[in-house]
Amino acid sequence: MGEPINVEEIFASKVFTLGKMKERLPRDVFQEVKSVMEQGGELSRESANIVAKAMKDWAVENGATHYTHWFQPLTGITAEKHDSFITHPDEEGKMLMEFSGKELIKGEPDASSFPSGGLRATFEARGYTVWDITSPAFLKEDATGVILCIPTAFCSYTGEALDKKTPLLRSMEAVSKQALRIVRLFGNTEAKRVIASVGPEQEYFLVDRAKYLKRQDLIFTGRTLFGAPAPKGQELEDHYFGAIRERVGSFMKDLNIELWKLGVTAKTQHNEAAPAQHELAPIYETANIAVDHNQLVMETMKKVAERHGLNCLLHEKPFAGVNGSGKHDNWSLNTDNGVNLLDPGVTPNDNIQFLLVLACILKAVDTHADLLRQSTANVGNDHRLGGNEAPPAIISVFLGEQLEDVVSQLIETGMADHAIAGGKLETGVSTLTDVEKDATDRNRTSPFAFTGNKFEFRSLGSSDSVADPNTTLNAIAAEAFCEAADILEQAEDFDIAVHDLIKKYLSEHQRIIFNGDGYSEEWVAEAARRGLPNIPTMVEASSALTTEKAVKLYEKFGIFTRAELESREEILYETYAKSINIEAMTMINMAKKQYIPAVISYSSRLAEGCAAVAAQGLEPRVQKEILRQVTEKLGLVYEAVGALEKAVEEAAAAGSAKETAFVYLRKVVPAMESLRVPVDALEMLVDKSCWPVPSYGDLIFEV
Ligand code: ADP
Ligand code: MG
Repeated sequence: MGEPINVEEIFASKVFTLGKMKERLPRDVFQEVKSVMEQGGELSRESANIVAKAMKDWAVENGATHYTHWFQPLTGITAEKHDSFITHPDEEGKMLMEFSGKELIKGEPDASSFPSGGLRATFEARGYTVWDITSPAFLKEDATGVILCIPTAFCSYTGEALDKKTPLLRSMEAVSKQALRIVRLFGNTEAKRVIASVGPEQEYFLVDRAKYLKRQDLIFTGRTLFGAPAPKGQELEDHYFGAIRERVGSFMKDLNIELWKLGVTAKTQHNEAAPAQHELAPIYETANIAVDHNQLVMETMKKVAERHGLNCLLHEKPFAGVNGSGKHDNWSLNTDNGVNLLDPGVTPNDNIQFLLVLACILKAVDTHADLLRQSTANVGNDHRLGGNEAPPAIISVFLGEQLEDVVSQLIETGMADHAIAGGKLETGVSTLTDVEKDATDRNRTSPFAFTGNKFEFRSLGSSDSVADPNTTLNAIAAEAFCEAADILEQAEDFDIAVHDLIKKYLSEHQRIIFNGDGYSEEWVAEAARRGLPNIPTMVEASSALTTEKAVKLYEKFGIFTRAELESREEILYETYAKSINIEAMTMINMAKKQYIPAVISYSSRLAEGCAAVAAQGLEPRVQKEILRQVTEKLGLVYEAVGALEKAVEEAAAAGSAKETAFVYLRKVVPAMESLRVPVDALEMLVDKSCWPVPSYGDLIFEV
């Protein structure tokens, strides 16, 4: 048994929490900080200086030498540039560590090396990082020492967002403002804000680090580009929720401790469906903090894994034929006085508010299914969505039996006067309190499922930032709330108007509701009949960002300008092309330098063996047959390498970023698949001791 862990003591020990600010700041400054956190605005220069000094003192007491503005550029991961607190020594040579309010609030990293999708050309190279006062500063400890990390948003000189945080914060403001209009209509005069809450469940794989280092594909691309299936897969379903192995257990324990110190509420851990696959779920938090914390979760997983001689794979599809990893994004909206707008509530009045919110969200999801789909697109997720292990690429909403019944009654008769739960027949919609029970009987195949008091958006990829999907959810909800409030605020008879509006929205958007099996062929056909978009790939999903509908939505709520959206689309094409190019080059490299030479030497050995056997006057029947098969497959590999090289050349010459991305999708990806097939077949023919890389079995079952 190791040292006992005192969670209460270590929790947030590396975070400059509100509590620490309260202890260390003068009362009026603390009040000012709190008010800016809650209501926005800016800290005065004097207060910023005082906060900066207190933050620096705390950091230095805890061993920090540097600070960084921690931000989330469009690469999807985090970026940091360290500056030490040191200043000019004084006359006597004494060093004073300093950190000013100005340094706290604003940084100027060179923006030119981060993706900007053309914004740089149109605007300015300079970029600014601006303190996100609502997400607490924390200490990160690694080989470079202890660094004070200040969560920031990253924009260009002229204010265009160059990161994932800025639009998220804008979307949170938008949804807060519009949702407030809704709760006001129902007589809530006290709430000042509506907060988007997010709980992202993170899936990941662990593999042995020494084996990982023997695979160029894992090193360069995060996934295996070759590999014959292991004799055993996940068919016995003996891994899901299975007992956690020692080595993995000690990793999880360390991971939890590190995360708790960072104030991340790591709550649940278990083995996942695939062998070597696991999940971690935190307790939900305000969206921007949840986004920051999810980045920390991913980073910490990687770091702690190394300490345990493991490697953490966050890729969406590390192993073909084995379940990939995703992220379930649990999302809800809560007033600052404790009302969850997605909670059905106990009185009919609450229920009507709930039904209106639900109707608005159904409308939003139906109207912007393409945007939601796009928000979950990344290179790795193309292997999952629609692959019968993750939700389909078609967006639909799962409501559960009871709620769906209420919805159909409302559509048919305009009234929901009975509910089917537990055989109970009660009048009015007040029976909706039972929804939670019903919704716990989850439909795992639905991309967007109502789960009692929140929606669970299940299409996200495991390696991706959760910023985009939540920005999208907030934005589309804001728009629907705004349109509803515009109507209802003008209504002469509110009760009739709200009733009519719920019925109207539900009738118009019921096609988005689907409670059946999302993996089935029938659903694909049915969805097509309903006119729901089915966008299979990231490249095809990207243009959703710049439709007139999307531009109108995002500009209306000040979340993205058209230029920002265009730049983001451009970056997606660039990212796709670059990522697939790396994968293709890695395959070519592995084929030419590892597989082909290994197979050549194995076939020479076989040929020698044949000759040796024949010299004894015997017929080397088996050796010859294997040699024939190996030689034939080797020829196929050789040709496939050539074809892949040609496809890559064609892509490189394609023209615009969009055209290039499409050539990678249509030509390079199939050429990669054609190369993989004969190599994987050879893996089954060639002596294991000659095979140059660890097999699937070695990677997945020997952790
Ligand atoms: P499951 O695996 O069954 O989906 P988990 O317990 O693993 O359930 O994860 C549920 C996630 O949902 C947790 O991260 C939890 O904090 C989050 N969650 C619960 N309630 C809400 C809510 N109201 N808003 C947002 N997230 C929530
Ligand atoms: Mg879940």
